[in-house]
Amino acid sequence: MKYEKSIYEGFELSPMDRDTDIRNKIQKVVTTQKPHLCWICGKIFPEKTQMINEKGFIDNEPSSCYACLNCVDKYIQGETE
Ligand SMILES: [Zn+2]
Repeated sequence: MKYEKSIYEGFELSPMDRDTDIRNKIQKVVTTQKPHLCWICGKIFPEKTQMINEKGFIDNEPSSCYACLNCVDKYIQGETE
């Protein structure tokens, strides 16, 4: 983890290509319990990986997705440099 946890959790992550609105969004750094796909790079990461979990509601359906720290680092770098 390159940055403070609070930076990952506070960073506005929704990629441009997602046109859905997420309501009641919660973004947290988690250690995964099972393999998850990173929604940004599309790679599958094994369990016990630290990833960003974004949870919320899309069209009243609960939604949960994961992004790997590498991808989020790139977003944060793009934002801060
Ligand atoms: Zn990724």
